[in-house]
Amino acid sequence: MSDYVLRVLAKDAGVRVLAAITTGLAREAAERHAAYPIASAALAYGMTAGALLGALLKVQERVALKVDGDGRLGKMIVEADAYGRARGYIAVPDAVSGESLGREAVGDALGKSGVLTVVKDLRLRDLYRSATALEYGELDKEIEHYLNQSEQIPSRVEIGVVMDEEARSIAVCGGLLIQALPGHGHERLERLAERLDAQPPVEQLLAQGETPEQIVDRLMQGDEYLALDTTPLTFSCSCSKDRSAKALRMLDPEDQLALIAEGEAIIDCHFCHARYTFSRDELVALHEEALLERRSLEQDDTETQ
Ligand SMILES: [Zn+2]
Repeated sequence: MSDYVLRVLAKDAGVRVLAAITTGLAREAAERHAAYPIASAALAYGMTAGALLGALLKVQERVALKVDGDGRLGKMIVEADAYGRARGYIAVPDAVSGESLGREAVGDALGKSGVLTVVKDLRLRDLYRSATALEYGELDKEIEHYLNQSEQIPSRVEIGVVMDEEARSIAVCGGLLIQALPGHGHERLERLAERLDAQPPVEQLLAQGETPEQIVDRLMQGDEYLALDTTPLTFSCSCSKDRSAKALRMLDPEDQLALIAEGEAIIDCHFCHARYTFSRDELVALHEEALLERRSLEQDDTETQ
C-alpha cells in the first residue's frame, strides 16, 4: 500500500476526519538520514504529524513543526504542504536506542520537556507562529494539545508506529486526526473519541492490512460521511543547486573568497542530504556575479539619492 491521506467530512457527526498511511514517508526519512532505530521511530511520528497537519491546509499553504525537547535525539523539524509533500530531519539520527522502541521510549528520546513550535505560511503578510510546552512525551498528544489550545479547534490525534521484527526499521505507520467542524463543540468530538479509544490503535489496524478507508469506516460506525479526496504522500525537498547557488551568492565576499581558496564547496541539504558541489570555477563566477549585483545596487542607490 503506498502512502496517502484520506480526507472525510461527516456533517451529521459534526467532524472532519483524516486518516493516513505514512510507512514509505517514514522509511525514506530514516534512510536519507541513516537514522538508528529510535531516531527512525521518532521521524516516523514526526513525518506522520506533518502529513496530517499538511492535509488541513489549503492550496499553497505550508506548515513547519519543530519539536525542541531535552532528549538525546535533539530537535526534529518537519515541513509539509497541502499537496502531500513532506520533508524532515532530526538533529542526532545516530542516537543509541534503549531496549524498547515503543511510544514511551520515543517520547523519552525526544524529551519530556521542551517546546513544540508550529509555523504556518498561510499566504498572508505574516507567518502564523505558535509555541506550546511539551507536556505529554508523546508527539500525537502534543499535536492534539497544540490544535486544542492554540488553534482552539476541538481535535483528537492518534499516531502509531510498528517496527519490524528485528526492531531496526519501520514496518508500518500512520495516523488519524479528528476535528470538530466549525460551530460544533467538544461533545461531538467526544463521541468519536470514545469510539477511537475502544478500537485497536491505528498502527495495529494498518499492520493488519486495513486501509485508511476501512479504518475511517470502522470509526464512523454507520454515521454518514463523505470521502472528499485522497492525496498521495511523498518525501519531497525543495532544495536545488540553484537555491544553493543563491545562498552562496548571498555570503559575504570574504567568505566567498575563503571558499574559492579551498577550491570547492559542498552544500549538504540537512532535510534530504542531497549534496551540491560547486567547483572553484563556479565559485569564482558566483563571486563575480555577487560583486556585479552589489555594484549595480550601489549605483541604483546613488541615482535615487
Ligand atoms: Zn533537500
